Amino acid sequence: MHHMTLAEIARGLADKKFSSEELTQVLLARIAQLDPQLNSFISLTEELALSQAKAADARRANGETGALLGAPIAHKDLFCTQGIRTSCGSKMLDNFKAPYDATVVAKLAAAGTVTLGKTNMDEFAMGSANESSYYGAVKNPWNLEHVPGGSSGGSAAAVAARLLPAATATDTGGSIRQPAAFTNLTGLKPTYGRVSRWGMIAYASSLDQGGPLARTAEDCAILLQGMAGFDPNDSTSIDEPVPDYSASLNGSLQGLRIGVPKEYFSAGLDPRIAELVHNSVKELEKLGAVIKEISLPNMQHAIPAYYVIAPAEASSNLSRFDGVRFGHRCENPENLIDLYKRSRGEGFGAEVQRRIMVGAYALSAGYYDAYYLKAQKIRRLVKNDFMAAFNEVDIILGPTTPNPAWKLGAKNSDPVAEYLEDVYTITANLAGLPGLSMPAGFVDGLPVGVQLLAPYFQEGRLLNVAHQYQMNTDWHTRTPTGF
Ligand code: GLN
Repeated sequence: MHHMTLAEIARGLADKKFSSEELTQVLLARIAQLDPQLNSFISLTEELALSQAKAADARRANGETGALLGAPIAHKDLFCTQGIRTSCGSKMLDNFKAPYDATVVAKLAAAGTVTLGKTNMDEFAMGSANESSYYGAVKNPWNLEHVPGGSSGGSAAAVAARLLPAATATDTGGSIRQPAAFTNLTGLKPTYGRVSRWGMIAYASSLDQGGPLARTAEDCAILLQGMAGFDPNDSTSIDEPVPDYSASLNGSLQGLRIGVPKEYFSAGLDPRIAELVHNSVKELEKLGAVIKEISLPNMQHAIPAYYVIAPAEASSNLSRFDGVRFGHRCENPENLIDLYKRSRGEGFGAEVQRRIMVGAYALSAGYYDAYYLKAQKIRRLVKNDFMAAFNEVDIILGPTTPNPAWKLGAKNSDPVAEYLEDVYTITANLAGLPGLSMPAGFVDGLPVGVQLLAPYFQEGRLLNVAHQYQMNTDWHTRTPTGF
């Protein structure tokens, strides 16, 4: 039962082959048995899951239908869940029970999903390895000595290990696409503003975007359908109609113009990944796509710009965690300053503190022009590069990551080495564009992802290209040994 995709589960439930309650029991038992190896969950919500499953079964018995009605999922632990711990992977919020549901959580619950739990993540979504979590590192089910990617490493590891069919995640600089690549999943970061950020604890507000992690493009379409849409509570959410994503999965690729940026194949890329990317290009050519070399000349400036803008916004967003209103508070503060200092010093881990310091520095009066303003100008150049490229091509294709999943601990002493691994994913966030990572082969037994980028609001195009690829390849069906 645990091998089923969301689409298969929807068919099975509709055909009354099993009930949502039965499926939920199976998956909860599987999580109890296997998750100790992975550490992919911060909290399990068995009681809620069983009551939601029963309610979904009752709705079906009353004639209701829907691809998500009775579908088991989990939420990354930065989506607020009413009455349930929402930790953001931090000691700071270890005792925080959200007083309301995030819009994404509420929309998916209304569609009938069953929440099995909250998944592990890098602290405040800062990281690419899921090693900065207060709740401990997550292991990659493909090789337990390797990282699953981050910051949505818990969602990725759980779905890859068949503990559940799909999960929500968020992507500020790659946190959906990079863990998808590292664990052989399909992950989609939607256009900025497509999915509401209300109740999604902020890391860098102008870059953060929620989206689906699943095994297939077909399942990403189903989950995105339940997440996307205008939300008056989020002033950056965009009031555009949501297309039927599943209906977009049957388009022909005949004549589709795919751009491959020459800058992607620089010295930093593992040549074995480059070869797998070229293989995926050949596969798409067989399906009728036309390949064109393009250029994104400002890509080299993206990492420094991102690692100024993201920490700058984070330093501002995280100032609310002051030990006064919610979150961790130190014991016996001597005065207000002592309260702030010790609560924040004890509550935030090393990477979060590093980013707050970098961000506060970049925003300070004497350095604002030199760092923050400059980074914003680079951001515009990065966007302009994409706009020019999309005048010539329909999709941009390349590697999701320069290397496969590294060993746990391998980059702990060198944060910049970890930042450099985000080179292919962060540009989509700087420009606000949608991006998808799909499985495209293996290197040393570790999965490799190919990234597709599209113009604003063309999530359907991304999902269709990935779906056509998956109808003709079987990388996405591979299962990690032991799971
Ligand atoms: N690795 C990037 C960072 O640490 C992106 C993280 C994310 O997308 N949340 O900022």
